[in-house]
Amino acid sequence: MTVAKRIDGKAKAAELAESITRDTAALMDEHGIKPGLAVVIIGEDPASQVYVRNKKRTAESCGFHSVQHTLDADASQPDVLTLIDQLNNDNAIHGILVQLPLPGHLDEQAITQAIAPSKDVDGFHFVNIGKLTAGQTSDAFVPCTPAGCMLMIEDELGNDLSGKNAVVIGRSNIVGKPMASLLLQANATVTITHSRTRDLSQVVAAADIVIAAVGRPDMVKADWVKPGAVVIDVGINRVEKIVDGESKMGLTGDVDFDDVCTVAAAVTPVPGGVGPMTITMLMANTLRSARLTAGLDG
Ligand code: NAD
Repeated sequence: MTVAKRIDGKAKAAELAESITRDTAALMDEHGIKPGLAVVIIGEDPASQVYVRNKKRTAESCGFHSVQHTLDADASQPDVLTLIDQLNNDNAIHGILVQLPLPGHLDEQAITQAIAPSKDVDGFHFVNIGKLTAGQTSDAFVPCTPAGCMLMIEDELGNDLSGKNAVVIGRSNIVGKPMASLLLQANATVTITHSRTRDLSQVVAAADIVIAAVGRPDMVKADWVKPGAVVIDVGINRVEKIVDGESKMGLTGDVDFDDVCTVAAAVTPVPGGVGPMTITMLMANTLRSARLTAGLDG
């Protein structure tokens, strides 16, 4: 029985954060520019509050100027758009992130598209989506989760995925679709699957690279996976787990980790895989934005 490598996203993210911190200090020393990240949170969704706290803490530890704007759950659309307009025009801010999901009365699309493309460090603006789709990533912001997945895939398989079959499970705008664009750009042969795909397990069985971004606990099993495949688990599912005989809430991915580890070459765990990389890629995008505004390479 093979035992797959456990891809340590936490360690890789920490290593990347160190280099971002060094580059941030150099940007300050040489050009007097401190990357600025503004995070906007609307309402009191507990999971969003945890994510926003983590982003703020990581930004501060990288040496960024970090600001958080907290709006009430009943903030109006004009209130939010006015704040975004202020941040778009604030020279100390290089990255703007509006934490999703938004309260139901707000128009998420209009808010996301109001962020200046040059400060859209989440990569959700249509300008950045278009550039990514056109393979024009030199001055585009790529969404953080797929960007982090791609770095982990490159570590295992190199930059050129020619001849590799990649199957992305999930077609969301924030994970599945941009992930597929990145894999295509790296020369992989890409299949995007989703809830309407027939015989999903058979499609996945042809993949040298599997990316699961669905939101269904332990969906991908060993008998779906080609021996030697690299498996990236994006899913975050809150489930009841039994730890030392006690029932506790814990996190699990879309991949049955222990099972898939018996056939795959390398698998990301949940937690400790894609999640930490996502936050670090947000810092990488913000530093890149600060460098681009200073006329430096991204
Ligand atoms: P989403 O709900 O927008 O999209 C889910 C996708 O899964 C859809 O395209 C849907 O067609 C597909 N799907 C649903 N059921 C399916 C099935 N039975 N078979 C095949 N495909 C199916 O979700 P999302 O925003 O893309 O997120 C996906 C998962 O990744 C969630 O668990 C989310 O929490 C997690 N996530 C993690 C990170 C991270 O940083 N680790 C970031 C973003 C999302």
